[in-house]
Amino acid sequence: MLQHDVLIIGAGLAGMRAAYEAKKKNVDVAIISKVHPVRSHSAAAQGGINAALGENDSWENHSFDTVKGSDYLGDQDAVETLCREAPADIIELENMGVAFNRREDGKLAQRPFGGAGFARTCFVSDITGQVILHVMYEQLLKMGVQVYEEWFCLSLIVENGVCCGVVAMDMLTGKLEAIRSKAVIMATGGLGRVYHPTTNGLICTGDGMSLAYRAGSPLMDMEFVQFHPTTLKTSGVLITEGARGEGGYLVNAKGERFMGRYAPQRMELAARDVVSRGEQTEIDEGRGVDECILLDLRHLGKELIMQKLGQIRELALDYADIDALKEPIPVRPGMHYQMGGVKTDAQGKAPLPGLFAAGECACVSVHGANRLGGNSLLETVVFGRRAGAGAADYVNDVPATAVSESAVAEEEKRIKSLFAREDRGETAAKLRLEMGTTMKANVGIFRTRENLAKAVDKIKELKERYKGVHIQHKGRVFNTNLLAAIELGFMLDLAEVISTGALARQESRGAHSRMDFPQRDDNNWLKHTLAFCTADGPRLEYRPVTITRWQPERRTY
Ligand SMILES: Cc1cc2nc3c(=O)[nH]c(=O)nc-3n(C[C@H](O)[C@H](O)[C@H](O)COP(=O)(O)OP(=O)(O)OC[C@H]3O[C@@H](n4cnc5c(N)ncnc54)[C@H](O)[C@@H]3O)c2cc1C
Repeated sequence: MLQHDVLIIGAGLAGMRAAYEAKKKNVDVAIISKVHPVRSHSAAAQGGINAALGENDSWENHSFDTVKGSDYLGDQDAVETLCREAPADIIELENMGVAFNRREDGKLAQRPFGGAGFARTCFVSDITGQVILHVMYEQLLKMGVQVYEEWFCLSLIVENGVCCGVVAMDMLTGKLEAIRSKAVIMATGGLGRVYHPTTNGLICTGDGMSLAYRAGSPLMDMEFVQFHPTTLKTSGVLITEGARGEGGYLVNAKGERFMGRYAPQRMELAARDVVSRGEQTEIDEGRGVDECILLDLRHLGKELIMQKLGQIRELALDYADIDALKEPIPVRPGMHYQMGGVKTDAQGKAPLPGLFAAGECACVSVHGANRLGGNSLLETVVFGRRAGAGAADYVNDVPATAVSESAVAEEEKRIKSLFAREDRGETAAKLRLEMGTTMKANVGIFRTRENLAKAVDKIKELKERYKGVHIQHKGRVFNTNLLAAIELGFMLDLAEVISTGALARQESRGAHSRMDFPQRDDNNWLKHTLAFCTADGPRLEYRPVTITRWQPERRTY
């Protein structure tokens, strides 16, 4: 049987940063990833990564902006850790070889981002994630960390209440293997594909959140789903917040910079939930342009656009036939990020012993009800590092446990039963689209009891129909048809948790905006939602928010 001290699921920035740290502590580390590491979604990050490096900035300012951005739902001790440790982590990345953009005087350049009181987003043009990911991968190669490339994690092995490994499929052969480990770090990224459309890559199907949930570890604050203000018309491809950070305007059909109505001070650079609601209101009240609003960059000039926003100009050309040098880009709010995830402490430890989590799949919680742009890459690095160290320390104190082969047999049985279904059943692709459009229509920017209840019922119905989903291709070699069906199972769990949590939360906070409860209600709802998996769907519990320095205030921009 394959065996490691620390096994990391996911080779995005969080997983790789965790591996780097654990390896430095001399434990036996391996990563498994369903795609080649540099194809992880972190590679798509455009705009940048935050750290208070500026002369007049401070980690306290960064913390306050993050707490306010979170609509006071972020745990302030975790936020302080994130912001205090950010500058050293950025410098470390720089020393590893990340060629961040620089100012004329040679210091690191920083661009303004939404909801931030200072320009504190470090960037490499508009391809920041890709560059950091490649540099981290080089570090892992140098250190000799083993990567099981194109292996798909199917389940966690839990014995005597302790997580002690996983069952995974080598996608090339279809063979299942148990991998025993003293600690498992979940770093599987986001769940964007639960919605349609989304800015997230095809692989962002929330696998690790569902795997942890099914294994008995609770998910936290899942009803908070971020809609990014600028996603490209029709395709939903992301146009970075950096475009507004560099000075881009949002205008409506009348040519007005309408954000003045919603955020008179920060305008286009208010927090994302505020900008997205502003845009959607313009569109709903008839001041949109073909269900979109316009992102105008023309006044920034060719030189700036080509130097700092070259990739998004190409994206707009390729996907919408729009040349940002000559015309405004039609954009609209689109599903982008999951604020919640596997509940962890600041060392990445989940309540299930032996399980850790970091990155977008985890919830420490630093984003609360709304994440600030540039804080997610930062979270992967800071809490990826901490989870790697936490897991390495943990494994030094625990003995290896035997893992019975029955876990593999069980998964094998599950896959055989999927193959054995009648060919007349529905396809996973069909159910997936119904799920995505249901979530967009009913669990979107503006929510009501009626729509949320509709979503909960529809997802229940889809879960029933999922039992009859059939796999057209029965082979074992790289069967993406089979994997898509398994991923759909994960996503249906998460769609249910999101919509159930949203229906229960009777207030508006951050990205969760209830038309029937338009105010934030700190008396009753200043608390985290925890979702536990039961045979009848999620069971919800609530936990207090940690407040250290900043009492909740009215939130305006
Ligand atoms: C288009 C886009 C632009 C963004 N821009 C920014 C930005 O500018 N700044 C910012 O701060 N944030 C940005 N974000 C958010 C940020 O990029 C992500 O939240 C972050 O990169 C997630 O990193 P991660 O390591 O948690 O997961 P990912 O990078 O998504 O990696 C997940 C890994 O898990 C593996 N995996 C998943 N399931 C399985 C399974 N079942 N078995 C085996 N392996 C599995 C995958 O193969 C992959 O290696 C952006 C997001 C998107 C979608």
